[in-house]
Amino acid sequence: MAYLNIPRKETYESIAEASHVPFWLDDPSRPAPEPELTENSTADLLVIGAGFTGLWTALLAKEENPSRDVLILEAGEVATGATGRNGGFMDASITHGFYNGLSRWPKELGTLLELGIANLDEIESTIKRLGIECDYRRTGDIDMATEPYQVKEMKQELEIAAPYQTNFQFLDRDQVQAVVKSPIFIAGLKRPDSALINPAHLAWGLRKICLNLGVRLYEHSPVVKLAEEKNRVIAFTQHGCVRASCVALATNAFPPLLKQLKHYVIPVYDYALVTEPLTAAQRGSIGWHGREGISDASRQFHYTRTTADGRILWGGYDAVYYWNNGFGAHLENDPASFARLAEHFFQTFPQLEGLRFSHAWGGAIDTCSRFSPFWGTAHHGKIAYVMGYTGLGVGASRFGARVILDILDSHRTERTELEMVRSKPLPFPPEPLRSLGIHLSRWSMDQADRNQGRENLWLRAMGWLGLGFDS
Ligand SMILES: Cc1cc2nc3c(=O)[nH]c(=O)nc-3n(C[C@H](O)[C@H](O)[C@H](O)COP(=O)(O)OP(=O)(O)OC[C@H]3O[C@@H](n4cnc5c(N)ncnc54)[C@H](O)[C@@H]3O)c2cc1C
Repeated sequence: MAYLNIPRKETYESIAEASHVPFWLDDPSRPAPEPELTENSTADLLVIGAGFTGLWTALLAKEENPSRDVLILEAGEVATGATGRNGGFMDASITHGFYNGLSRWPKELGTLLELGIANLDEIESTIKRLGIECDYRRTGDIDMATEPYQVKEMKQELEIAAPYQTNFQFLDRDQVQAVVKSPIFIAGLKRPDSALINPAHLAWGLRKICLNLGVRLYEHSPVVKLAEEKNRVIAFTQHGCVRASCVALATNAFPPLLKQLKHYVIPVYDYALVTEPLTAAQRGSIGWHGREGISDASRQFHYTRTTADGRILWGGYDAVYYWNNGFGAHLENDPASFARLAEHFFQTFPQLEGLRFSHAWGGAIDTCSRFSPFWGTAHHGKIAYVMGYTGLGVGASRFGARVILDILDSHRTERTELEMVRSKPLPFPPEPLRSLGIHLSRWSMDQADRNQGRENLWLRAMGWLGLGFDS
């Protein structure tokens, strides 16, 4: 079913009172920030950015070597970047899905799938071992077909993935309706190796453990410049600097501190809504008692899930690139996207007409042309970075952090030998070609969704070149 994009009066009313603070961050248990950096300091390992990538890097480094002096500089507060704004879908895939991995690294796909599952298992065991309460549930994720051609595509994927022991499961109409009732869901593909979390609670849990282990954290301390000084790197903030033997750069979609990264990652804005808590009758009308993560199978897809306090999160569809890598808080509030999303919500769950949204927000996704993370170094190997998760970094960020430490410590591991880790995506062209290409891709994806999935020449050409646009 192609979604209708014209919001009704009732739809505008449903979002009129929504707060623009991300739902996960609008929480009384949000910790008070640590102080800013106000003097010069030193560290063995400096981590820049305190989202999932930075927090996992600090935690893994400290657990591996408790005497290592680890310091984090964070521009805002822990989890105020994408980490506190996402859907909380924690997938085992480190390649942005099975097909993307298969098309780019067919020879090492088996290893990549195993490493992804091991990564998710290790996150799960860390959460249990450290007692982090973050509503972690390995419920699996279901892609929902809304059109017959998508059912055919799902059956094909099931067949192609079967030799890789992915354990994907096809669900027919009755089976998907038993999961969640929506008149537009006609079949589904369940991926069992996927969990749901409250992302802010996980980030704040990691933060607390890092602090307990002796990591020094400075919030509201943006790094403005990096420079090399003999065998160290100096990171300058407005009121002090840190001299460190090595630096892990974990700044995701934010304007990069290294010039060389400007063409590899572009910020793409994704928007989400959260409803008020459902009444028992509303909940009864949709079922969804297993609290599975759900997406639809369109190219411009929605993702949806329930929260611990009985609300529904609904996001995706629009993936908006603003001219010349536009970035900033002013882009996190897009009334037109919110209205479109709300309208699509009621088309999916018409039985919930009248429900209102309590939260509506946006955040930047670090899109790269291969949709999956890439790594690199600067300043003679003293800085290592990972970015480019392209909207699937909640789980993969721990793998990203693990590889950053391998690189900084010069450890040759199974991970560092991967073609995926050693290669880089193709850079995006400069403006105005960048905007033109992205807008043409988005328009083509919309056309494909309205035309039985048939891709036009542009999308096919991009596919042949291994280039693309996704969120
Ligand atoms: C709306 C939305 C929905 C998403 N949904 C999902 C999902 O359901 N599942 C999934 O897997 N992924 C999802 N993602 C992507 C996922 O959130 C990210 O891939 C992941 O959180 C990346 O973590 P990170 O630590 O690399 O980046 P971030 O969380 O963005 O952290 C980067 C940090 O670096 C700091 N920083 C930047 N520059 C500087 C500087 N100069 N000095 C100091 N600090 C700096 C920032 O303040 C920020 O805190 C979504 C993203 C968005 C925006």
